[in-house]
Amino acid sequence: MRLYSTKNPSSDFSLKEAIFKGLPDDGGLFMPYVIPVLPNAFFENIQNLSLQEIAFEVSKNMLQGAVPDDALRNIVEDAINFEVPLVPLDENIYSLELFHGPTYAFKDFGARFMSRLMAYFIDNKQEEVNILVATSGDTGSAVAHGFLGVPGIHVTILYPSGKVSDMQEKQFATLGSNITALEVDGTFDDCQKMVKQAFNDQKLNAAMKLTSANSINIARLIPQSFYYFYAYSRLDKRKPLVFSVPSGNFGNLLGGLLAKKMGLPIYKFVAATNANHVVPDYLASGEFNPRPSVRTVSNAMDVGNPSNFERILNIFAESFEDIKSNIDGKHYTDEETKAIITAVHKEQGYILDPHSAIGYKGLKDYLAEEGKDLNGVFLSTAHPAKFLEVVEPLIDGEVQIPGALQEAMNKPKQSKPIPADFDALRAYLLKEG
Ligand SMILES: *Cc1c(COP(=O)(O)O)cnc(C)c1O
Repeated sequence: MRLYSTKNPSSDFSLKEAIFKGLPDDGGLFMPYVIPVLPNAFFENIQNLSLQEIAFEVSKNMLQGAVPDDALRNIVEDAINFEVPLVPLDENIYSLELFHGPTYAFKDFGARFMSRLMAYFIDNKQEEVNILVATSGDTGSAVAHGFLGVPGIHVTILYPSGKVSDMQEKQFATLGSNITALEVDGTFDDCQKMVKQAFNDQKLNAAMKLTSANSINIARLIPQSFYYFYAYSRLDKRKPLVFSVPSGNFGNLLGGLLAKKMGLPIYKFVAATNANHVVPDYLASGEFNPRPSVRTVSNAMDVGNPSNFERILNIFAESFEDIKSNIDGKHYTDEETKAIITAVHKEQGYILDPHSAIGYKGLKDYLAEEGKDLNGVFLSTAHPAKFLEVVEPLIDGEVQIPGALQEAMNKPKQSKPIPADFDALRAYLLKEG
């Protein structure tokens, strides 16, 4: 598998280079030169394959020999070791529950697959790779759990003290083992700045191998295509299929676009957002105007300048007509999001989290407008127990908290306090690393 930077179509990188670099130096994003189309035989037989078998076939074609089959099979089976239920709700509407991994959100797919791929590519198993991440909440837990116990890798997470939820903090700051949480006396922006300074610091880079695990890493996009194939495999193939994707940075939707490029017959995508609706606006007007993000109840989607937008342009060769014919845009206010949670609970007894609720509403509205006989799947991206404060008042009842989440809540946090100062971070890393 070879990759190029969207800013330089003749650049050429191996998968290993793209994964450890994260971003090309020219400020573009990595894209594969070839997105292979899967053979007909695969689609004809797909209903007989398990999720892991589908994931293996898809990644094997995508990686084109960059990882030998046996190793890739192990990576897939170890990374995707949880269920993905497809739950029927209304007629022709299904919830694809992507939240049954260790952190109860869909980011487990990307983080777990990337971590195992990185571990495979570390040639010198003696030399430790240090992953450095700044988090405002959810990325930290997906990355921490994704890399927990992976040999050859140490993860250091920086987070702003007092500015992440209790549940989020417990998910990444109680793990120990190869995961260290640094509680920074400052803001998320301070954390991000310190991480950036670390990547640019010569002394630090001479002393240790530092790498990032941010969400635009190509290794996080590939596994986000698996479940689109899986949903298709479990539904009536004769009906055109629509996916509604609650979106922020658009990595999840990109996974679907990759699947379609690989031959999966997807009729339409719905890009469903909250008040941060630069992409729905683009789909309506053809103009892309990034702006500062605003806070909403679906906070993992509070993105004002989606970093994967450039990949959407790239995949459609910048044709606005093509983009518009593939993707429909919808966006909702917090009031609408909350009303949907209440209504779906009342009518179906099903509890949506605030992100999935936007996916559901986008799908409902699209299907009503389209008026054809379609199958619709919305991606359920988080377990409602992660958003108790929002969800419980809306359903006038309790959300059952999964055992592992409850267990994490009961563990003592083990983070190390640190001032919002790069010298302190450097001194810490040099001493510990
Ligand atoms: C990250 C996240 C999203 C948005 O996914 P993108 O790939 O950034 O579009 C939606 N829901 C939840 C729960 C998330 O954590």
